Amino acid sequence: LRDGSTKYFDFAVIGSGVAGLRYALEVAKHGTVAVLTKAEPHESNTNYAQGGVSAVLCPSDSVENHMRDTIVAGAYLCDEETVRVVCTEGPERIRELIAMGASFDHGEDGNLHLAREGGHSHHRIVHAADMTGREIERALLDAVINDPNIFMFEHHFAIDLLTSQDGSDTICHGVDTLNTETQEVVRFISKVTLLASGGAGHIYPTTTNPLVATGDGIAMAHRAEAVISNMEFVQFHPTALADEGLPITPTKPRENAFLITEAVRGDGGILYNLDMERFMPLYDERAELAPRDVVARSIDDQLKKRNEKYVLLDISHKPREKILSRFPNIAAECLQYGLDITHQPIPVVPAAHYMCGGVRAGLQGETCVRGLYVAGEVACTGLHGANRLASNSLLEALVFARRAVQPSIDHMNSSSIDHGASDWWARPVVPLSLGTDILGKIVWRTREVRKELQSIMWEYVGIIRSTTRLNTAEQRIGELELNWEAYLFQQGWDPSMVGLEACEMRNLFCCAKLVVSSALARHESRGLHYTIDFPHLEESKRLPTIIFPCSPGNSSTWS
Ligand code: FAD
Repeated sequence: LRDGSTKYFDFAVIGSGVAGLRYALEVAKHGTVAVLTKAEPHESNTNYAQGGVSAVLCPSDSVENHMRDTIVAGAYLCDEETVRVVCTEGPERIRELIAMGASFDHGEDGNLHLAREGGHSHHRIVHAADMTGREIERALLDAVINDPNIFMFEHHFAIDLLTSQDGSDTICHGVDTLNTETQEVVRFISKVTLLASGGAGHIYPTTTNPLVATGDGIAMAHRAEAVISNMEFVQFHPTALADEGLPITPTKPRENAFLITEAVRGDGGILYNLDMERFMPLYDERAELAPRDVVARSIDDQLKKRNEKYVLLDISHKPREKILSRFPNIAAECLQYGLDITHQPIPVVPAAHYMCGGVRAGLQGETCVRGLYVAGEVACTGLHGANRLASNSLLEALVFARRAVQPSIDHMNSSSIDHGASDWWARPVVPLSLGTDILGKIVWRTREVRKELQSIMWEYVGIIRSTTRLNTAEQRIGELELNWEAYLFQQGWDPSMVGLEACEMRNLFCCAKLVVSSALARHESRGLHYTIDFPHLEESKRLPTIIFPCSPGNSSTWS
């Protein structure tokens, strides 16, 4: 380390979404906690979550029902034990959130109002209007700010985990970060590290994820020799707002597509093509309430067959007051662009939304790297299998953030702060120190490369795949990465230099390659992974895809 400073904490938490904050609040009862986050603390997928959190809270529902719905949506690839744990512990996690100050909607009977969403057999979605994530993030951030043991480091971009080797074991000692406001490199040395850095939506050009979701955690963990799993299962949300269908087109392209929550379909929204023909019953008997993958593929099929850019989602047949009280955020967003959802249908398209794969975790959020735990979207716990059931991800984050606490405390108690053994694996890192002109050129070129990578992913690794297209993607991504690196070297860049855009680009390349190699390894269609070369589900292939440390070309299935 040649710049900045070194800080020591019992716990380092990477990410300030629901998973990171919930964990921080628990472990802070036992030691000092640094929460590191790459932008403003609230900027996270959590903050954008609309629909809600699923949990069995109604007497006519049961854990078994919730489990069945999760496993069916997950195309039978879910880990049953994980599903049982999450569905069983969910209600208590919701009650804790409420006790911490989160406020959710109540029905006329005074009980929590439970909505129903696609794939759920019962009403079980706890929500705060259509801004549930914002309310959860607010409540958790308020609690974190008031906790004297938690120190928030915003605009601290985690570059790489610090690891060492003990025989065949890899041990995590913390993380190197770049303070993106001062451009200083700051090292955090911790007894325990929680990776809660969220998803990777920005490997695609159209995504509901905010700009922070560049797959940094998955890439970091992969470089640190953690096992990565199920990366072929990228969830495309079927209904993001299609800007080109709005009466007034937004003047600036959005950083992330605006989501039209599943709950609109759950509350009776109907999908039509541009000739106002209802099409979902042609594809699935559950029609608009079919799971997301089915709805996204059906919309994709309509768009391709009809050569159209969007379909329509209509809720206007419901009472105006009900629409406005249930979906105030969506109504206001559409109204800004001249569309009144109480009278007109909403133009929608599918967009990359959720990464079901990630860092392989055990039932306590543990990884194969000692001292490194994961929770939230960055983790692959086995809950979602081949497709996530709506509103199960906030729940998974809450349950695993809590489950990782006790083993983290045990690990903390059994380890001492290591002040930097000589055999640590830590890539030397220095801020970019090139002339302003050259830096400008690098940033410009990197943004172009990012767009190229995203369009390759959309075109060749999208909702409907084929072996030929995946092979093309693999080749084109490889060439693009080599050309980009060659360009950086030409400009005088050396690999120890770290800048936000270049680090994110490296991570986007890593995640994109993991998705492609995992997709190539799965010779069947299951859940979110649909390939025309292997169009059927194969019982013999009902295994998670695992990727062994640092070998993006070397993915294989568990047996
Ligand atoms: P996030 O909330 O994404 O937080 C990740 C954190 O890590 C952020 O603070 C980010 O800045 C930080 N970070 C990332 N990389 C770095 C780095 N290199 N260094 C430092 N910090 C870093 N799920 C549901 O269950 N119900 C819903 O209704 C729902 N609706 C959704 C709607 C939208 C529009 C989106 C995008 C997602 C929705 N989801 C929903 C999914 C759900 O919101 C996420 O899966 C969940 O919030 C993930 O929480 P997390 O804590 O794991 O990650």
